Amino acid sequence: MTNGSRAEAIVQDVVRSRPCGLLTDIDGTVSRIAEHPSNATVEPHARTLLERLAGKLDLVAAITGRSAEDARAIVGTDEIVYAGNHGMEIRRGEVTVYSDSAREHAPKIRWLLDFLRSSLQINGVYIEDKGLTASIHVRETEDPSEAERTVLGMISEHVERLDLVVTRGRMVVEIRPPVDLSKGTAVLQLIGEYELRGAVYIGDDITDVDAFHALQQRRARQGDHLYAIGVVDDGTPAEVIEAADGTVEGVDGVITLLEFVDRIT
Ligand SMILES: [Mg+2]
Repeated sequence: MTNGSRAEAIVQDVVRSRPCGLLTDIDGTVSRIAEHPSNATVEPHARTLLERLAGKLDLVAAITGRSAEDARAIVGTDEIVYAGNHGMEIRRGEVTVYSDSAREHAPKIRWLLDFLRSSLQINGVYIEDKGLTASIHVRETEDPSEAERTVLGMISEHVERLDLVVTRGRMVVEIRPPVDLSKGTAVLQLIGEYELRGAVYIGDDITDVDAFHALQQRRARQGDHLYAIGVVDDGTPAEVIEAADGTVEGVDGVITLLEFVDRIT
């Protein structure tokens, strides 16, 4: 069986298990990775597919490290649900609900960003304030690994003192509040709320592996039809591919899979 047909077999099983949902990361899955994060876009065809599927499946949701508002701006539709900031905020229609426990820590994150802005001197570093969390992007620097080391070195002492959490993604350092919320808790919350028996989650990065494992553990316990699909391209971490139940090739592979779901529903 080729990778593509494994992914197709998975979504066939999912859509036969109602209520069912399609959950996806945004960057590197339905949106091509852009040099600068604010240039990310979802192509009209992918947006249309997500909207169509939102009308056919019981839930279509985007689960992302971006803020929910930013995610909505990039995907460009109110037809789907957005879990932003790794599950710390959920946007439905035009209403966003924020995690109170995460919100308590926001002033400390503001302080750390001000500190970084005033003391960090590396060309090409982009500091993204996402409200409840922050991302320090090093993709556009001359030496991303060196820039990442420098950023981590500068913030480590403060992060510990302020009781914040640092995670790393594809050429990005993330600063988060110390709350037990992740893409894993976000998918479980949505699966519970919508009482999904079938769901597929599509992701390409380390933080998506939390969602992969959450689905797989629930599947093992409850026999639900919950699966993880990894998106393979040049920068996909090995952990993502190892943890996935099936894979597709790049954003084009994701769009082909969405077209397939549209055909069989
Ligand atoms: Mg991604």
